[in-house]
Amino acid sequence: MISFENSKRILDQVQYAESIAREQIRPQARYYDDHEHELPWEYANFIWHTARKTLDSLRPGAVFPEEPFMLQIHINEMFSWGDFGFFMCLPFPALGGNAIEVSGTEEQKARLREKFQGDKPTWTCMALTEAHCGSDSSAIRTRAVKDGDSWVLNGEKLFVTSARKALIESEGVMVVWATIDPSAGRAGMKPFLVEAKTPGVKITKLEKKLGIRASDTAVVILEDCRIPLENMLGSHMTKGFKGAMATFDSARPTAAANGVGVARATLDFLKEQLALNGIKIRYGVPRNLLTSIERDIVDMEAQLRAAWLLVLKAAWLVDRRKPNTLESSMCKVKAGDIVTKITQKGIEIMGSMGYSRRLLLEKWMRDGKVSDLFEGTGQINRLVIARRILQYSSKELK
Ligand SMILES: Cc1cc2nc3c(=O)[nH]c(=O)nc-3n(C[C@H](O)[C@H](O)[C@H](O)COP(=O)(O)OP(=O)(O)OC[C@H]3O[C@@H](n4cnc5c(N)ncnc54)[C@H](O)[C@@H]3O)c2cc1C
Repeated sequence: MISFENSKRILDQVQYAESIAREQIRPQARYYDDHEHELPWEYANFIWHTARKTLDSLRPGAVFPEEPFMLQIHINEMFSWGDFGFFMCLPFPALGGNAIEVSGTEEQKARLREKFQGDKPTWTCMALTEAHCGSDSSAIRTRAVKDGDSWVLNGEKLFVTSARKALIESEGVMVVWATIDPSAGRAGMKPFLVEAKTPGVKITKLEKKLGIRASDTAVVILEDCRIPLENMLGSHMTKGFKGAMATFDSARPTAAANGVGVARATLDFLKEQLALNGIKIRYGVPRNLLTSIERDIVDMEAQLRAAWLLVLKAAWLVDRRKPNTLESSMCKVKAGDIVTKITQKGIEIMGSMGYSRRLLLEKWMRDGKVSDLFEGTGQINRLVIARRILQYSSKELK
């Protein structure tokens, strides 16, 4: 039986995360939106040295008694309620760490854990997207060629979240997807570990973005970047493309949780403002008797709840090591949709003030949209859902 009732451990940690989101993250959100590419070091250090002692989900390899992914989902949602851009600056394993956990050998996972035991904040990142391919990741052109006891990587990767933090600001690691045989299509795709400060890896640009501006998103060039043979993630037999997709099975619910966090921030703010103006939402009243604003709020709450329940279902499956590709795409689509709609509606309800930078509503609208873009766009996740339900292969339904 599925039950989403949280354990005391999750409830306690969420409560602690809420105090960080409310007191430390939210008050700085506007500053770091205005100062794109400035790193919130004070926050990163606080998380690394203090908050991690309590928040298990920020430590790779911590011994979780139960439901580790469920805990992570709740913390993601709460931090993104504070600020999505700040969440993206968390010094924790993130997407690169997911890829290592999914495809790595025991030795590679142990290396990741070791990195997260140092005395300085550390980040990981994952580089898949290239200029000619984002959604169609099997078309990557970055090459990995075996040369003696090394792999030599050449190529250009775009939109790599946290690349600067992982490669320049810390002794982190980047998971790079490259092809060892371009004629083999997706079968040639393999993941590689590139350590910070490896010669031949260069950040050439930080993207200026619409939203989540506290988070760095970089262009990374690999030029004759030589790494040891054992830095291929997993073994030579690891099915690279399957590994990329499996990484998304856990990454998508986390991205969806981020979207839900932003949508909830908007809705909480709207309800606060309505209460200040003496407007109380009447629940349990027939719909035809509600005012228009009450209907809007009740509809938004229903949509938010639906998205969150889908995220919880996908997370519940991860914790039980059950397949969740369908549920993971479903929650991602729903969260991307509702955060877009709720943040736009929030601006509409607040009128001109909603459009002003005096409030965070306009920022939430810009930030939230990315939930519908990265970790697979809304359209791509709809394709995944359709294939699963109709039992079509990716060749049959493109
Ligand atoms: C802030 C941010 C952070 C990111 N972080 C990372 C990162 O850390 N690592 C990384 O590797 N990438 C990252 N990305 C890249 C992101 O994953 C890609 O942008 C995304 O996969 C879409 O790829 P694309 O931009 O090339 O769009 P395209 O694939 O060119 O798609 C363009 C449009 O066409 C639609 N489309 C494409 N194919 C189909 C189809 N078959 N059917 C219907 N519609 C389709 C898409 O949905 C989209 O609307 C990030 C992007 C952003 C914006």
